[in-house]
Amino acid sequence: MIVLRVAIPSPLRRHFDYLPPLDAAPDSFHPGCRVKVPFGKRELIGLLLEVTSETDVPLSKLKPVIEILDTTPLQPQYIRDLALWAADYYQHPIGDALLQSLPVYLRKGGECVASHTYLWKTLPDTTLLDISGRAHQQQALYQLIDDHPQGISQEAIKAEGGQTSLLATLETKQLIQRIQQKHILPDASHLLKEAPLPLNPEQQVALNQIIQGQDYRTFLLDGITGSGKTEVYLQAIHHVLKMGLQALILVPEIGLTPQTVQRFRHRFRVPVAVLHSSLTDKQRFDAWMQASQGEAPIVIGTRSAIFTPLKSPGIIIIDEEHDSSFKQQDGFRYSARDLSIVRAHAEQIPIILGSATPSLESLHNCALNRYQHLTLRKRAGNASAPDFQLLDIKKLPLNNGISAPLINQIKQHLKQGTQVLVFINRRGFAPSLICHDCGWLAECRRCDARMTLHQKPAHLHCHHCDSQRPIPRHCDQCGSQSLKPVGAGTERTEQTLNELFPKTPILRVDRDSTSRKGAMAKIMDQVHQGDPCILVGTQMLAKGHHFPKVTLVAILDADAGLFSTDFRGMERTAQMIIQVAGRAGRADHPGTVVLQTHHAEHPLLSLLATKGYEVFAKEELKRRHSFQLPPYQHIAILRAEAAYTGRAEGFLQSIRDHQYTVFPQIQWSGPFPSPMEKRAGFFRSQLLLSSHSRPLLQNALSSLCLSIEQHPMANKIRWTIDVDPYDL
Ligand code: ADP
Ligand code: ZN
Ligand code: ZN
Repeated sequence: MIVLRVAIPSPLRRHFDYLPPLDAAPDSFHPGCRVKVPFGKRELIGLLLEVTSETDVPLSKLKPVIEILDTTPLQPQYIRDLALWAADYYQHPIGDALLQSLPVYLRKGGECVASHTYLWKTLPDTTLLDISGRAHQQQALYQLIDDHPQGISQEAIKAEGGQTSLLATLETKQLIQRIQQKHILPDASHLLKEAPLPLNPEQQVALNQIIQGQDYRTFLLDGITGSGKTEVYLQAIHHVLKMGLQALILVPEIGLTPQTVQRFRHRFRVPVAVLHSSLTDKQRFDAWMQASQGEAPIVIGTRSAIFTPLKSPGIIIIDEEHDSSFKQQDGFRYSARDLSIVRAHAEQIPIILGSATPSLESLHNCALNRYQHLTLRKRAGNASAPDFQLLDIKKLPLNNGISAPLINQIKQHLKQGTQVLVFINRRGFAPSLICHDCGWLAECRRCDARMTLHQKPAHLHCHHCDSQRPIPRHCDQCGSQSLKPVGAGTERTEQTLNELFPKTPILRVDRDSTSRKGAMAKIMDQVHQGDPCILVGTQMLAKGHHFPKVTLVAILDADAGLFSTDFRGMERTAQMIIQVAGRAGRADHPGTVVLQTHHAEHPLLSLLATKGYEVFAKEELKRRHSFQLPPYQHIAILRAEAAYTGRAEGFLQSIRDHQYTVFPQIQWSGPFPSPMEKRAGFFRSQLLLSSHSRPLLQNALSSLCLSIEQHPMANKIRWTIDVDPYDL
């Protein structure tokens, strides 16, 4: 008897057995192929795990598979193993984990064949003069294509800013043609489009270490912003490409800008496959195919690209490894950074984690000699590191959060003809609206949170559940009309700066001001023109940008994260400050960073400002050690939520009562209400498990999952397990 063991995207933590399709030839099923199966009343696409001859299910209950969708496995074994490892480690149902490791296009049943990719070329005997002088965009597009005599792909045209929508027009006018792309990669001596920069001594030491061998080793490339980490990546990649191997580069979600991709395209004469969330399913699949067939020697993507197979893996690079976007925060809660290490180990290839503000976990792993610590402490080229000033604003009058000494500094920098960046990590006009007569605050009806006041357009907005409502005219409690905004967000700061500096352009960068397509590019263009201006924005400004003319970075509220209840609050605040600060003085202009604070004497904040991140991180690690927090303990959180108050907590309590006698070596704490107990109409509670031993914790969690699945209340409760949580 032949039994097909199938992984199905279902919340159940197990696999499902089926019979082969009625008409199937005996050798037509291979593990790793997709199968369409009946599941309840539905048909689902699953992945064949194993062909066996045994099953616990009575024969009469076994149903046949409807259809086998592939003739060969979609992924190499090591990618399936990675997904299975992650399912086990993160306590996620295997079917969902496996299917999530595939592109959406394949999950939905799309056919796994490479689409023909074309290159565009200009036709011989045509010139720019064949296009009307008024059709600027057409001319620019023609010129771009003409600059690539070997042909250029549609994707590359887009990345270089060409109008792909005009391709058809030029084709109809018989000015350009498509040719089928040939996958002949340049030989090792023709890989470079531009010469590598001569490395400074620190960079050279780092590169030498990295390229010394081609086996598994983890490097932490710990280099201040502007120290030339990317140059080290590029040269390490060159080394790998010369051997005919591929490089996989992961970047944070907002870090994958066209500029990032261009640095790789400008250096190498090879296809670069890019995987990010704004592609269509088909485009992502095409990039995935290029990677897995070895046609793209360089593959760049965000978190989920960690599951992209490479035909000839050579190196993995995780840029900004400390970034929270590498940890998926819902559903399959994996950390792409941590998985990348598992993957590099399985593939026996080197891996680089790079950051100016490494996570405390990675620094701890260096201290344990698990990772090799490579440091770049000087800025590359002529740039010098910025100068930090803690500006004590206690008792100073504030103009919507901006102090007089700061206004003076902004004036001076604008006067010398440079640019200023003002950072405030709150979007909207004001974080709350208060009644001046009775103290009532506009709160979200579905969350334990205040609504943020927005003016453009005017409304109240809950940033936790996304509810919106009009701004009330009267107080809900006393009917007074005297409602006042309290505090400042980006919109109000923009308005205040406009009043203070009426002649200077103020450019606001936050989720609201950049939601329209092209809006961000427009703002960046204006900044890069170099005229004096003030940039105001949230953490969107902190990542991946180069602002060579910014000489002053002002952080309006350095205190926001200092007293957070989350054990990572301090680490996150420090990373954000250093990352924002790193935007200043990147070129030949020295930079100044001003931190407005009410806690200038706060030991960790002053340490950070005077001694830098490295010294701060050492102190913070000592604190974590004394409180036995990660990385000195492994933790997991069981979260539960229900529509009635107390229900989630009762559920967690009964789980704890049942389990903790079984696992006495685990520290259990809770259940406690979650930091924001009510959110989007649900009452949330959480139970924290911690242990010195990863295997012990893993055992406890597996047993916990089984007992929850059998719990009588399990279907009335939404629950999740978060292993190595990023947020508490
Ligand atoms: P990071 O990734 O560490 O922020 P980058 O690699 O972006 O730093 O480098 C910052 C700037 O310094 C870039 O403009 C880069 O071209 C330049 N740079 C990097 N390495 C060198 C070098 N060895 N010599 C001269 N300039 C360099
Ligand atoms: Zn009132
Ligand atoms: Zn809400």
